[in-house]
Amino acid sequence: MKRVLISGGSRGIGAATVEKFASLGYKVAFIYRSNDNKAAELCEKTGAFSVKGDVSNPDEARLAVETSFEYLGGIDVLVSNAGVSHIAQICDTDDGEWRRIMDTNLSASFYLCREVSRIMVKEHWGRIITVGSVWGRCGASCEVAYSASKAGVRGLTMALAKELAPSGITVNCVEPGIIDTDMNKCFDDEALREICDEIPAGRLGRAEEVAELIAFLASDSASYINGQCIAVDGGWCI
Ligand code: NDP
Repeated sequence: MKRVLISGGSRGIGAATVEKFASLGYKVAFIYRSNDNKAAELCEKTGAFSVKGDVSNPDEARLAVETSFEYLGGIDVLVSNAGVSHIAQICDTDDGEWRRIMDTNLSASFYLCREVSRIMVKEHWGRIITVGSVWGRCGASCEVAYSASKAGVRGLTMALAKELAPSGITVNCVEPGIIDTDMNKCFDDEALREICDEIPAGRLGRAEEVAELIAFLASDSASYINGQCIAVDGGWCI
């Protein structure tokens, strides 16, 4: 049985990914930050194991990986998914907000990938899937910090893919467009309609549609796909 660790698994894309891997027969652990009720519900539903921790803190990220490793008995697949967004003009983005976004979206991926790489290199096998954003490739107005953090995730993914390929590990990035999760609760119906008008598919994506690609990249069928950043965006950012 393969073993997967997913960060940000309590809600949204992470929760859909927990459910997908559990349905495929993986042994699943996930990390979440604060939402105890959602985490407990998901564990009850899927049989997954949850670890509470803030992955933007290097010590907590390391501890979460160690705890998950002990429970799972190894880690074959890492999905580095936890993330936060922030919408503001650059002049209204203070240093603290910049650091919160960079620490959660980029540094946390670095911490998790570093800890998990140590495990996977010893096994000479592994799959790492990072979660970026289409804004990391084309930039969003009023989301400078978020776009920069996700562009960093692209760079991390491509560099790590080259570094770890000789050790039998693939590293790929999934880049969602706009997905129907709590992250987009800040938009009212009219704003969402306007966004959908710009998307060739004419609708928001579903968390399950992102989870499908993540699960494929973790599978044996994806053994020769490495260092790729793949959008799941209904054709939005072509
Ligand atoms: P949600 O806001 O729905 O869920 C975020 C998840 O991340 C929660 O499980 C949350 O835990 C966890 N989390 C946040 N910060 C931390 C932290 N510091 N330590 C541990 N866990 C943390 O987000 P989405 O599912 O929408 O987004 C998932 C990923 O997809 C993110 O990286 C996001 O940037 C990316 N993405 C999302 C898009 C979208 O439209 N939704 C578009 C493009 C990319 P808790 O429940 O405890 O708060």
